[in-house]
Amino acid sequence: MSNYESSWMNDELRMYRKSVREFIQEEFLPRQARWREQHRPDAEAWKQAGQTGLLLPDVPEEYGGGGGSFAHQAVVTEELAQAGVHFGCGVQSIVSHYILKYGSEEQKRKWLPAMAQGELVGAIAMTEPSAGSDLQAIKTTARRDGGEYVLNGSKTFITNGAHAGLVCVAAKTDLKAAGFRAISMIVVETKNLAGYRVGSSLEKVGMHEIDTCELFFDDVRVPSANLLGTVEGVGFSQMMEQLRYERLMIGVGAVATAEQAVAITTKYAKERKAFGQALIDFQNTRFKLAQCKTESHLGRVFIDNCITRFIAGQLDPVTAAMAKYWLTECQCRIVDECVQLHGGYGYMTEYPIARMWMDSRVQRIYAGSNEILLELIGCSL
Ligand SMILES: Cc1cc2nc3c(=O)[nH]c(=O)nc-3n(C[C@H](O)[C@H](O)[C@H](O)COP(=O)(O)OP(=O)(O)OC[C@H]3O[C@@H](n4cnc5c(N)ncnc54)[C@H](O)[C@@H]3O)c2cc1C
Repeated sequence: MSNYESSWMNDELRMYRKSVREFIQEEFLPRQARWREQHRPDAEAWKQAGQTGLLLPDVPEEYGGGGGSFAHQAVVTEELAQAGVHFGCGVQSIVSHYILKYGSEEQKRKWLPAMAQGELVGAIAMTEPSAGSDLQAIKTTARRDGGEYVLNGSKTFITNGAHAGLVCVAAKTDLKAAGFRAISMIVVETKNLAGYRVGSSLEKVGMHEIDTCELFFDDVRVPSANLLGTVEGVGFSQMMEQLRYERLMIGVGAVATAEQAVAITTKYAKERKAFGQALIDFQNTRFKLAQCKTESHLGRVFIDNCITRFIAGQLDPVTAAMAKYWLTECQCRIVDECVQLHGGYGYMTEYPIARMWMDSRVQRIYAGSNEILLELIGCSL
């Protein structure tokens, strides 16, 4: 038994956790099979999540958000991870933080309350078929034409793509400038938008409940007022700044998943018998679980430190990169070991550990692949 509790936890957050947990158990869990089959959540799930306070928990109340801190976002991320439910509300929060940080007062008032209510679903579109890690090489363009931008290009692997009514698009506004100065973030309102098309949900290895899509822009016109920020050409630095938040959130999910993997595997090892004894009575099983538990606890202490520093405005990009890199590697090691300890049942998708294994793999790839993060950490040496 461990009496460790995250230093950022308090009574108000405990109550919030309880309501988030109950909501996920009652409203999301029973619908998982259908969501996985249709490769997207039901549209009304977004509004339900909004009404329950799951969306934009760390956005100020004056813009319709929960008025909390990153601790509230961490609670939502942890509860979803522990329940094994994947829902794009993390991306919703990421988009809201772009608007909160760089948007005009008018943009904040127009979009944030609708996002908090789940009436407007957000997506962030950086990756393209020929440019993922190398974001400066994107080809999507936004040409200024009077009071509008005209967007052309395509994006891929976009989370929430099917439901998104608001897409924050990275596009080149200046083809002559150096890569990092050429990019701007432009907010696209997709409803009834001429020239905008969403491909069908992509077939993924895991996270089947989430809609991950290709987006196509063919002479799409948006008001020039939809530029995020006061000047063009700062999109790359905006992305680099906001990726800190995204990487921290992925680290939070990684730790919660690893802890859950250890918990369910310990339970399984106590119940399952082989050679006349419970699996946990084999020294190998105990040692493997002991190693996993130790590693997940190290992860917990690290992420709690990162969360506390982020709330205090002190989390630097390199530490956020370390958290995403190390904690997702740790998550995948632990989950894989736990599959092994389940034997053949660990390979059956009706067992949560098998789904956890499929869902975990992508954590090392998106939001900056772990190799790119090692480069970033390496630059600080
Ligand atoms: C399920 C899912 C959801 C996603 N959601 C979104 C989303 O909502 N929005 C969005 O914009 N994107 C999203 N992505 C895209 C994701 O961020 C990219 O897949 C990721 O950044 C890697 O880019 P890539 O796929 O083009 O791989 P590549 O850049 O082609 O990389 C291929 C391999 O080469 C390695 N590599 C590349 N450059 C270097 C280097 N300099 N040094 C060492 N190794 C290197 C990479 O680490 C990787 O192992 C999502 C992806 C997935 C799978």
